[in-house]
Amino acid sequence: MELPFAEAWKIKMVEPIRKSTRAEREKWLLEAKNNVFMLKSEQVYIDLLTDSGTGSMSDRQWSAMMLGDESYSGARSFFELKDTITRLTGFRYVIPTHQGRAAENVLFSYLVKEGNIVPGNAHFDTTKGHIESRHAFAIDVTIPEAHDTQHELPFKGNVSLEMTEKILKENPGKVPFFVLTVTNNTVGGQPVSMQNIRETCALCHKYGVPVVMDSARFAENAYFIKTREAGYQDKTIKEIAKEMFSYADCMTMSAKKDGLVNMGGFIATNREEWYEGCKLFCIPFEGFITYGGMNGRDMAALAVGLEENTEFDMLDTRIRQVHYLAQKLDEYGIPYQRPAGGHAIFVDADKVLDRIPKEEFPAQTLTCELYLEAGIRACEIGYILADRDPVTRENRFGGLDFVRLCIPRRVYTNNHMDVIAAALKNVYDRREQITHGVRITKEAPLMRHFTVELERI
Ligand SMILES: *Cc1c(COP(=O)(O)O)cnc(C)c1O
Repeated sequence: MELPFAEAWKIKMVEPIRKSTRAEREKWLLEAKNNVFMLKSEQVYIDLLTDSGTGSMSDRQWSAMMLGDESYSGARSFFELKDTITRLTGFRYVIPTHQGRAAENVLFSYLVKEGNIVPGNAHFDTTKGHIESRHAFAIDVTIPEAHDTQHELPFKGNVSLEMTEKILKENPGKVPFFVLTVTNNTVGGQPVSMQNIRETCALCHKYGVPVVMDSARFAENAYFIKTREAGYQDKTIKEIAKEMFSYADCMTMSAKKDGLVNMGGFIATNREEWYEGCKLFCIPFEGFITYGGMNGRDMAALAVGLEENTEFDMLDTRIRQVHYLAQKLDEYGIPYQRPAGGHAIFVDADKVLDRIPKEEFPAQTLTCELYLEAGIRACEIGYILADRDPVTRENRFGGLDFVRLCIPRRVYTNNHMDVIAAALKNVYDRREQITHGVRITKEAPLMRHFTVELERI
């Protein structure tokens, strides 16, 4: 008999979680104004809000913490981290930052000027924020097929070369760099193929435009290349990752994802002039260049985390778990962005709650229903998050309306996945009775989803 698959780790420390009653959850959700960001974590049974900084560290990472060097400058922990990053990515210059958006802030402060155009395959919201706040434009050039949730493609996060070339041709001198996001988070954690990385970088370089890789989930992307792209089956994750970075000019990293730490980030590049330019912004915003907002112990844990998470078995455990959940949803006929991505399942709420008009925010309604059903906290990645058009102030209903079930690394077992799937099935089975959505009672002018207040209609 073939042995079944099992996790590539065992559990040494546990954190109790508590179920609640439906009556408690109704009270808590009302107090949170139907916004799950406003819930206290103790009010949540299974937390799928994000995979960012919510993973479990290994025993080796915790031991590394004890050896952290907290010297203000020249800390050994910095050099260990830098050497690990150089070995994994090929980039010689490394600037630590307190998280991914801080890396963007430092790099973009140096590179982005008013009126610039920064194309990319679906910029992450903070990336877009850091471009737009500098009065520049972030233009999405993801392949159009990515927006059809039922269309199955192995590399649905790919860049459209035609769209990119058009922008580069029409805007000479106005594009400071291209942002290549791996995996493409915004369209559902979808990978980018090595061929597409190679061709995108070659195209940009032909026009003299450098490429910055937004690398939060670079290891998950390498896993998909190994398992889906011809010619890579026999290569290690480390070899694939190094090849990915070899085409790019720079990387920004949110280490809270594939770095397996709770907080941290960095910039890495081989461009000496960019390194010199970034130093000027790192020191006032983040801290001295050998800690950039991170503790020595956190840099030590990150070095180990990067090493561990570029091993196939660790990634195989993680991605198989996401796909295990997807398989359950398939059994129950629940529609989601296909195929399942690396870190999350994006449930197509418009298709589930098709009786609720867009104006009543189907994905937010489904997020509330899932919490009420079982204390599971998902996240709306839909019309509320899309904010209003800055000019017309109308809601932006043009995109997709997802409920994201984001799976933290090394935190939950497949039994938890069964609970999530069953809870979603229960909501799905009574979807016909959910005929009213939610209405906004208070919202911020920008990034409203974090603090929005809503009432049930
Ligand atoms: C999370 C993320 C960021 C921002 O990183 P933080 O650590 O949350 O500041 C940038 N890009 C991508 C693709 C991300 O997933």
